[in-house]
Amino acid sequence: IDPDDAPRAVREYLDVLDDKAFGASTPVKPKFTSHSDPASQWTAARKGPAIFAYSNNYLIDTDHSVIVDVEATRSIRQAEVGAAQTMIDRTEECFSIKPDWLVADTAYGSAENLAWLTKKRGIIPFIPLVDKGERTDGTFSRSDFEWDADNNRYTCPEGQHLLQSRRNYSDPRRKEPKTGRRRYRATKAICDACPSKPKCCPNTNTRFIGREAHEDARDFARLAAKSPFNTKAQAKRKKVEMLFAHLKRILGLGRLRLRGPCGVQDEFTLAAIAQNLRKLAKLRPKTHETRIAI
Ligand code: SF4
Repeated sequence: IDPDDAPRAVREYLDVLDDKAFGASTPVKPKFTSHSDPASQWTAARKGPAIFAYSNNYLIDTDHSVIVDVEATRSIRQAEVGAAQTMIDRTEECFSIKPDWLVADTAYGSAENLAWLTKKRGIIPFIPLVDKGERTDGTFSRSDFEWDADNNRYTCPEGQHLLQSRRNYSDPRRKEPKTGRRRYRATKAICDACPSKPKCCPNTNTRFIGREAHEDARDFARLAAKSPFNTKAQAKRKKVEMLFAHLKRILGLGRLRLRGPCGVQDEFTLAAIAQNLRKLAKLRPKTHETRIAI
């Protein structure tokens, strides 16, 4: 169709094709696309029926539950992570405030996002990680291996070193990984002679430990998760869930009236304003008692 003759929602969809909250969030081709609102995402939440939907993302002040920023995105994880970064930057630009720490759910715990938060913005992340290195079958987990950044190696519970490579290349760049992920391992001879082998790598010759490109940021998030403040931070995260529940159940925003990314953004922003007004009215200090005489 001629884009100039297309309905508004379709024109807006074409406008956001390169936007990281919409078209550029993933290279995966959607299974179904709505003809009347192509920017929406065919998705099913919690094993419910699939629907065309958008995601609403809030950045809130955890002390008072005041919504500081709102961003509408496609309903996929990558877009929601991009929205969090957009909102943090926009809040700093508009109000000159930046959070010292951020609490969010596992969806925001990707290595790239943690690296962006910690290294680029200096924000402490209280975000649970998806840690595939933790084992539940009684064998050593990844956390049992100690990382030694100075020597670029892991030390196993038996005190042996797991190295990326044992070769001495004349060109050190040959040791650099071709992808962001690096693998560290002990030698077969060392592991064969180890008394803990059945508890470490019972089915393989030697033990490998993988290290992602931004593993230092993930390590920092693991440290933050162990800090005493993490329990408080996770309790405060419920405040944003309560706002979403209020939005759907009380304000009835389970269904949208307007189509297209701009229509949805407008609707989400108006709903956030309504929620903020309600909240701010409660926060307003009481200067005097209102008395009614009959
Ligand atoms: S099996 Fe190898 S890696 Fe595992 S504890 Fe023993 S020496 Fe260390």
